[in-house]
Amino acid sequence: MNTECWAKVRQELLSEVGQAAYKNWIEPLDLVGLRDGVAQFGAPTSFFGNWVSRNYGDSIRSHFASEGVSVERLEFVTSAAPKQQARNEEQKPAKKPIHSAMRSVPDGADLPAAPLDKRFTFDSFVVGKPNELAHAASRRVAKGGPVTFNPLFLYGGVGLGKTHLMHAIAWEIQAHTPEARVLYLSAEQFMYRFVQALRFKDTMSFKELFRSVDVLMVDDVQFIAGKDSTQDEFFHTFNALVDQNKQIIISADRAPGEIDGLEDRIKSRLQWGLVVDLHPTDYELRLGIMQSKAETQGVLYPDVKIASGVLEFLAHRISNNVRVLEGALTRLYAFASLVGREVTLDVAQECLADILRASDRKVTIDEIIRKVADHYNLRMTDILSPRRARSVARPRQVAMFLAKTLTTKSLPEIGRRFGGRDHTTVIHAVRRIEELRTHDNQIAEDVELLRRMLEA
Ligand code: ADP
Ligand code: MG
Repeated sequence: MNTECWAKVRQELLSEVGQAAYKNWIEPLDLVGLRDGVAQFGAPTSFFGNWVSRNYGDSIRSHFASEGVSVERLEFVTSAAPKQQARNEEQKPAKKPIHSAMRSVPDGADLPAAPLDKRFTFDSFVVGKPNELAHAASRRVAKGGPVTFNPLFLYGGVGLGKTHLMHAIAWEIQAHTPEARVLYLSAEQFMYRFVQALRFKDTMSFKELFRSVDVLMVDDVQFIAGKDSTQDEFFHTFNALVDQNKQIIISADRAPGEIDGLEDRIKSRLQWGLVVDLHPTDYELRLGIMQSKAETQGVLYPDVKIASGVLEFLAHRISNNVRVLEGALTRLYAFASLVGREVTLDVAQECLADILRASDRKVTIDEIIRKVADHYNLRMTDILSPRRARSVARPRQVAMFLAKTLTTKSLPEIGRRFGGRDHTTVIHAVRRIEELRTHDNQIAEDVELLRRMLEA
């Protein structure tokens, strides 16, 4: 009964707070007791419990109420610390997990740090060509010492390791400088706290809090695009920290200049430091990640045997997004261990049919536009703009051609995605490039190169 009710409440919370916040804050909670108006939850740390209580307490109570359960109070019990962390603490008592160190900020208020994932370390990060720069820059920042570039701006598509790298930096800094105040949070949480501060007329302590950190990391900064007062506050925080020579690390799903709705002064300020791109994974990197994750899974499921060639097959066939790759492998191991069969190619194909299907058409129009823009040294916005100069129009036609041949999108859909153009424009572009390819070597090469990069 309790479990069912909690399942419904969670469902409601998911639609209320959104996927990201849900994953961070609600999913890790276990309902361990529910009676006499007290809901008791297991939470990873007491800081975590405090944060949930402050930020989602009212919502949780009201959703219980809609299920007909009256909850006066939320209690959080701290579940056992993760193994890795517990070990560290034994060896070096001074080392606290990052978010509890956060709580020692002078004015006693909790910094709104998000919990760090203990799996996201440099050790578990597989380095390949597509991410080697981002990795090197992250390592450099994690080493500490004089601030050489500020901010470090990491960008790239979903599931390419931005959050992983940021957590790795935080863990590393915390390991060699336990007293450093490292604040990691998503831009969404930044905004949430700011809005709350406004609501409770408490912006002074908000400002003080954010300006008292040594390292500030804001994940998925594209989230604050279009949110003017949050941007404004972010900008001031940012400047204040840069002035004090405090390291800032930012991530986003695209380059600063490409984030629509972000003020120009912020865009340009973000470009002051080092901007590095996490490229889509290539086959070698995917295989490396697969092998590394297979080792981890192998420890959990020692009885599972994977036939040779299976990992290679998956690295070939499964998309860019490392999260999807991981999910596939986890499922494969769980399945194999249940049915007690060796994982052959056939078994893998059967067990992962849906993922393989979804990955079949893995190139997106966005990626195409981005790659084509990069290739011709243009901005994505140039491709989408109405400009007709040959230097822009030809690359645009190449991009449309690739969109038609590499994705299953319809002509009208492609037109819409290219700045709201008509489908006849797309047809024209496709024909033009087909024709040019037969006698213009440069175009033929460009198209071939781009196609290979996009399909890698
Ligand atoms: P992003 O923040 O860019 O969307 P994440 O950092 O959340 O992506 O990565 C998604 C998942 O893929 C995480 O579980 C992460 O550990 C894993 N991952 C991504 N890149 C790598 C890598 N190079 N090596 C190992 N794991 C990776
Ligand atoms: Mg992320």
